Amino acid sequence: MSGRHDSSLNAGRARLGQVEAWVFDLDNTLYPASCDLFAQINRRINAFLSNFLGVDPAEAREVQQTYIQAHRSTLRGLMVEHGLDPEIFLDYVHAIDHSVLPESPALDRALGRIEGRKLIFTNASLSHAERVMERLGVRRHFQEVFDAAAAGYVPKPEPEAYERLVSRHRLEPRTTVLFEDIARHLKPAAALGMTTVWVRNGVDDAGADRDYIHHVADDLVAWLEAAAAERGGAGRLAPC
Ligand SMILES: [Mg+2]
Repeated sequence: MSGRHDSSLNAGRARLGQVEAWVFDLDNTLYPASCDLFAQINRRINAFLSNFLGVDPAEAREVQQTYIQAHRSTLRGLMVEHGLDPEIFLDYVHAIDHSVLPESPALDRALGRIEGRKLIFTNASLSHAERVMERLGVRRHFQEVFDAAAAGYVPKPEPEAYERLVSRHRLEPRTTVLFEDIARHLKPAAALGMTTVWVRNGVDDAGADRDYIHHVADDLVAWLEAAAAERGGAGRLAPC
């Protein structure tokens, strides 16, 4: 699928009342970065690399950066450069303590006020996504999870991952919204014509190039409540 970024921008700001599908990143988007869950994953990634490559943690961090630059993700780097079975990596890095995640009745309520399909789009594994959703108490809202395996282990922000998502779930980009805490992961979505919401959690800095960010949510629950009000005709949600 092709999509010109300049022409997609205005379409991406379409009224939220027309949205039919709501796609959410998982980690640090559905829960605050302060929960420290993703920090646990990062420590496991470092430990895996260190053990697998036989290097110290500092060198493992350097290797991780080169993988992310060259291959977009640590996992992809290990697969391309070492032929690693991705499930071995995913099982290891997601073997964390999910109990640090608090239940979120407020998110549960806000998601319940939004009509339409709701999906998870994550570079992580399905089992990790299931555990996070269960802990938060929001599992019932999500009909579909598009995980690393579903994407053929092609990670965000590779455009191919988004194209596979759209194809697999028959999404119409112009009536689809993507929520993400990593700003650069929104760019391919905007290029396809999706509306983008950057969930600003204090970890990622969007930098100068922000034209692919249509909305900013400093508080996901509050943003969803406002979107629900707009869809009910009770006001207008201002773009960023
Ligand atoms: Mg995230």
